[in-house]
Amino acid sequence: MSDRKPLIAGNWKMFKTNDEAIETVQKLIKNVGQVTDVDIMIAPPFTALSVVAPLVNNSSIGLSGQNMHWEEKGAYTGEISAEMLINIGCSYVILGHSERRQYFKETDDQINKKVHAALKSQLKPVLCIGETENERDSNKTFSVLDKQIEIGLQGVFIDRIVDVIIAYEPVWAIGTGKTASDEQAQEVHTYLRKRLNDIYNDSVAQSIRILYGGSVKPNNIKGLMTMPDIDGALVGGVSLDADQFSAVVQY
Ligand code: PEP
Repeated sequence: MSDRKPLIAGNWKMFKTNDEAIETVQKLIKNVGQVTDVDIMIAPPFTALSVVAPLVNNSSIGLSGQNMHWEEKGAYTGEISAEMLINIGCSYVILGHSERRQYFKETDDQINKKVHAALKSQLKPVLCIGETENERDSNKTFSVLDKQIEIGLQGVFIDRIVDVIIAYEPVWAIGTGKTASDEQAQEVHTYLRKRLNDIYNDSVAQSIRILYGGSVKPNNIKGLMTMPDIDGALVGGVSLDADQFSAVVQY
């Protein structure tokens, strides 16, 4: 058995007005606000962070940004910094989500700068990696993941790496209803742990949490969580519904 505490994370993407966010969080607090055996994190849109932060304070629900810029401040219209996320009450930030890579052309180098900026500010980065369907079909899954993990973590020293959380999210399983089978996900997680062992050492590889993401629901989380190298889930669509997300948390 590993000592890795499970983490169930909800990515709300560009959903929920502040009123909707408050309603969802109030339900979540009622359902799972005192859960202690699983870490819980939600990533509301930036606009909702300030109304959600006081509600989750003193609960077991942590807050996350969905993205951030790597610079500390400056003329970067539309962007926000790590310090702004910390100041509003976030302890995590999702970085390199496939939607950021796909629609906003984020590169591994940019994501790496964000990982460094997050760690410098004491935010825990949730580094998202994953292959597309085409890449899987052409047997490129592991080489794609190698590049994403090697560049994404470049220059992150051994004393900081334990604050990084990896989220393996096969792009073909995000929002599609197609989930990787428990075994398919486990195979990749084992591979990633081996790569972390090569880059760092066994103790690092054994302590880093690796989440699975891609159409996770109440009816498939249990199987995924029985896999020895799956330490939790990054949940998109289902995290918008407080009862469904609570069911995932209480797998
Ligand atoms: C995600 O956006 O990270 C995700 C995994 O989405 P979904 O659960 O909807 O597939």
